[in-house]
Amino acid sequence: MRELILLKSGEIALKGLNRYTFEDKLIQNCKRKLADLGTFHFYKAQSTLYAEPVSEGVDLDEAVRRLQKVFGFAALSRACVVDKDFDAIVGAAAEYLAPTLAGIKTFKVEAKRSDKSFPMKSPEICRELGGELLERFPHLRVDVQNPQLVVMVEIRDFAAYIHAGQIEGAGGMPVGTSGRAMLLLSGGIDSPVAGYMMAKRGLEIQAIHFAAPPYTSERAKRKVMTLCEKMGEYCGKIPLHVVGFTQIQEEIRERCPEELFTIIMRRYMMKIAQSVAEKNGCGALITGESMAQVASQTLSAIACTDVACAMPVLRPVIGMDKREIIEISRKIDTFETSILPYEDCCTVFTPRHPRTKPNLWMIEQAEKALDEETLLAAALEQVETIVIG
Ligand code: ATP
Ligand code: MG
Repeated sequence: MRELILLKSGEIALKGLNRYTFEDKLIQNCKRKLADLGTFHFYKAQSTLYAEPVSEGVDLDEAVRRLQKVFGFAALSRACVVDKDFDAIVGAAAEYLAPTLAGIKTFKVEAKRSDKSFPMKSPEICRELGGELLERFPHLRVDVQNPQLVVMVEIRDFAAYIHAGQIEGAGGMPVGTSGRAMLLLSGGIDSPVAGYMMAKRGLEIQAIHFAAPPYTSERAKRKVMTLCEKMGEYCGKIPLHVVGFTQIQEEIRERCPEELFTIIMRRYMMKIAQSVAEKNGCGALITGESMAQVASQTLSAIACTDVACAMPVLRPVIGMDKREIIEISRKIDTFETSILPYEDCCTVFTPRHPRTKPNLWMIEQAEKALDEETLLAAALEQVETIVIG
């Protein structure tokens, strides 16, 4: 029996003339995702992408699991393909769905007929197919209101498709169709969620992490690599740029007022991130900042970090509560890694009383004690780039 996966487009379906660019990128992303499972033939029609295995023995369940994490689809179904002939449809439905039908008591049939040349109309298909299934599976009953299973028949361009309903897709736009951005990735809960959210809006993600050895360990770095790997299930491969931040932090601690330490450090992070982003063709930075969560995330602190770089800074979790952020981090499976108790460069030199309302003039005066040019050049010289996966 021929089987394939039907992928129903989400927002892309609303695009105009440039829809093909989005669809092509989506196909490319799917192909990459399935490459090691076997060969698939992709084709599209009527806001639906068809992923049909060409090679033998492809694990379609695994393919569905992976495609559920590809941004750009509203829904997907594993379906069997059959000729547009009613008898063939009855035979295929009975055979294909037999294992499922054996385990339930109530069902109904839903039909969608986008090929209007098919001689039977949808209500007739539902009635007739329902009757045939009742005859073959006498333990079943039709329940239109609340069935245990909806048998779907879709009569489309190329063929008819039978499946047991659809599952929700990841939504969003295909990764790469909105450009590329650099995510400031700490080891915490918020930044992986921020990266996921922007990838969902079509951005290709690269990540930058600031490490402060020997204050931060190799384990802390590996934790960030694991986060990239986990995010990669949704975002695609994420190159990780690791920046040594120790010298800068020590200089700030030595030469600047303690209460301004965090904000000055964050301004240096933004400056370095912007340089690395520019070198890698990124058009924006992404952070996991959430309003009022900590001292460096007050409005005036954000204003002071914002002016440190010219690039747009995207902060998708700015208006979210910790609880809401955690919910997403559990969904994308980064939570358990994020809460591993390894040290972060931010926590190494946390001031006792950070300023919650810093003033830009004061900060700029304090920063004069630092040789910015030399510090930035030294940090940028030894950026280590790791491609994970
Ligand atoms: P997170 O949970 O993402 O660590 P947080 O609530 O701990 O965030 P901060 O430590 O103030 O908040 O960091 C705010 C944002 O700054 C982070 O979301 C991240 O984008 C960036 N950031 C912080 N530390 C680092 C780091 N060591 N490397 C890269 N980016 C960082
Ligand atoms: Mg943090």
